[in-house]
Amino acid sequence: MSEVKGFATQSAESALAPFSFERRAPQPDDVAITIDYCGVCHTDIHFAENDWGRSNYPVVPGHEIIGRVTAVGGDVTGFKVGDTVGVGCMVDSCRQCASCEQGLEQYCREGMTPTYNGKDRQDGSITFGGYSDSIVVSERFVVRIPPALDPASAAPLLCAGITTYSPLRHFGVGKGHKVGVIGMGGLGHMGVKFAHAMGAEVTIFTRSESKVAEAKKQGADHVVISSDPEQMTFDFMLDTIPVTHDMNPYLNALRVSGAHILVGLLEPIEPAVQARALVSKRRILTGSLIGGMPETQEVLDFCAEHGITCDVEMLDIHDINEAYVRMKKGDVKYRFVIDMKTLG
Ligand SMILES: [Zn+2]
Ligand SMILES: [Zn+2]
Repeated sequence: MSEVKGFATQSAESALAPFSFERRAPQPDDVAITIDYCGVCHTDIHFAENDWGRSNYPVVPGHEIIGRVTAVGGDVTGFKVGDTVGVGCMVDSCRQCASCEQGLEQYCREGMTPTYNGKDRQDGSITFGGYSDSIVVSERFVVRIPPALDPASAAPLLCAGITTYSPLRHFGVGKGHKVGVIGMGGLGHMGVKFAHAMGAEVTIFTRSESKVAEAKKQGADHVVISSDPEQMTFDFMLDTIPVTHDMNPYLNALRVSGAHILVGLLEPIEPAVQARALVSKRRILTGSLIGGMPETQEVLDFCAEHGITCDVEMLDIHDINEAYVRMKKGDVKYRFVIDMKTLG
């Protein structure tokens, strides 16, 4: 066991504050990691504040973890002391169901073990995330950070990055495709970069005029300021909006067999989807959750190869509560990343 320093919330009402806890000693397949950076995701806020009614306190958030290996168990073959590595949204799964066998651990039949606020499969304890100085994770759930990537700005690739990359890959987005990206936050700005790098013509849908220049800078070919795609026709819509919104105008802008992919919304859809919009053109309404471990490695390698990084604002962990307030107002371009040196 090792003593770990971190930040936790003790209840839905309390602010994040210093918290000490223990991590297990590395087992044969484990990698021990000292954490250098951790991205701040909207999911962190939802769990810290119990928005979904299933938080187990204390909550130590953080699932965009970048660090260096400090020790490895005897069975570890892929990592050695000193390697720069990442840990994303999950730290375990059953490892033997059909999904796990295909490297789609996020869709594990028994449910993946989330990096924080999950239940450790071995001892039943609550998992604690990356707002801390170190973590111990099974090798299978650790990825390599290519040397070409800046470690701090690579952190959000482990959640925001893979969440947008995975469905674009799954649907084979490439040259000649027209892709609409709905929303221009942490997820949306990564979606634009990926779709652009894959060779697609990218249109951003945003409600704020102020984001037009910014969207172009990120690689968008067109910007539409409204939720009405009008006369345009798209092969795919990547929908990153996390709150209920009318999908019908977007569905009606898809070509025959086109797909509308949800990556931000977890609520019931309102207003109702018109079945006619799907039936009349064999359109697909679908969703996608992060990505499996092989694909999480793939997105990091893809970013290194294409020079893609997330736009980040570095954060002192003591300012994390103010950062949450700013995120709720959409006041961040595009992701806060905690510099864990500030943990002191
Ligand atoms: Zn996340
Ligand atoms: Zn499984």
